[in-house]
Amino acid sequence: MNSPSEAAVSGAEKIVCKFGGTSLADAAQIRKVRAIVQSDPRRRFVVVSAPGKRDKDDAKITDLLLTCWHLAAQNLDYSEPLHLIRARYDQIARDLGIAPLTDPLDEAAAELEKLARHEDSLATRDWMAARGEFCHALLIAEFLGAQFVPSGECIRFDEEGLLDPISYANLAALMSDEGAIYVVPGFYGRDQSGRIKTFPRGGSDITGAVVSRAVGALVYENWTDVSGLLMADPRVVEHPKPIEEVTYRELRELAYMGASVLHEETIFPASQAGIPIQIKNTNAPDDAGTRIVATRDASDVGIVGIAGRKGFSTIYIEKAMMNQQRGFGRRVLEILETNGVSFEHMPSALDSMSVVIGDENFDGHAPTILKELERTLEPDRMELLPPMALIATVGEGMALRVGVSGRLFGALRESGVNVRMISQGASEINIIVGVSEADYESAVRAIYGAFVA
Ligand code: ASP
Repeated sequence: MNSPSEAAVSGAEKIVCKFGGTSLADAAQIRKVRAIVQSDPRRRFVVVSAPGKRDKDDAKITDLLLTCWHLAAQNLDYSEPLHLIRARYDQIARDLGIAPLTDPLDEAAAELEKLARHEDSLATRDWMAARGEFCHALLIAEFLGAQFVPSGECIRFDEEGLLDPISYANLAALMSDEGAIYVVPGFYGRDQSGRIKTFPRGGSDITGAVVSRAVGALVYENWTDVSGLLMADPRVVEHPKPIEEVTYRELRELAYMGASVLHEETIFPASQAGIPIQIKNTNAPDDAGTRIVATRDASDVGIVGIAGRKGFSTIYIEKAMMNQQRGFGRRVLEILETNGVSFEHMPSALDSMSVVIGDENFDGHAPTILKELERTLEPDRMELLPPMALIATVGEGMALRVGVSGRLFGALRESGVNVRMISQGASEINIIVGVSEADYESAVRAIYGAFVA
């Protein structure tokens, strides 16, 4: 691999930088973005979100666009949100000293009108939502003196709605000029029938990863309004330490258990290509941020972070000689499956087993499932246990170190927290404990205190 200085000369190393909505919310923020892009000649691929909130009471452009769409579809008055959208782009253009956008906003207004009149209109929900990124990318490209990349022509979805790998070649073909800076609108592509289709909300992160893979980026920088990930939820632990480096696997565990980071699907295009993701703060560009990598030296500390959430139910089933009954577990899971419910964990003993299920998944299905279990399995005892919180303590280093679980359980014991469930997968990347919801916060603090000095 070239060193950065050689790369700057040869132009071979490429950095993709994706800027989120708050990083592009107004002209002042966009000026910061320009300074960041211009400070490294390798930052030639800029993926943008639609303008986000300027403060906590502000509206996101994507939300306003969706409001317009919902109102127009019911033939209700959408003039107010449409006015707010125009005013926002106009003000940004004025403050940046560039020409205002007219055509793409006029087109949106015309399509909304057709929609309201039930005429043939381009304005599907996704088309409308994608307009925010489309318009903003045009403005930012103009301000940076960069080339606009029509991502709708490059990013394609297959018949199942998944990303079509042809997208990589399409993007690469349009971004091959080594001297150019490119601005790519995030969040959308086109489906098989040629209609605009968006990724899930927050999906510009995914576009950033796709572009990174397409151009073979050295690193995918994801610029946002925080300086990376923290080792625990700051609403629970006071001033938790930042995470400097985390593996894709560790991140998935943390994100699944509630750490809000990047969009989950974001990681795949980058991780499959082995491209590290660097989370950076547009408002504090010198902060280290968090680097997400394929492997890391995990020998220093045992854990990388703690995440958890409340809202898990447990079905406890007891039956004498359960261990000798073939197919008992399968029948339990079959009943969950036919009711469309997935499970999280299944700790078991000789004559009993428990199934832990996320409440968002279980709600509404519980009575039917319990009845079917009772009828099919005739248990000696069955109980729906009170709601539990799960806490994942995550770290690749765990497998190599003696005493991690000793420290964890010691800390819980000292703080008087009763552990209701323990699960450590064979991957040995995390230890999950289940505690009563009332104990959640003190358990997280105790575990954090045990590992972080
Ligand atoms: N603008 C879109 C949203 O608000 C996508 C994104 O910002 O990533 O969800």
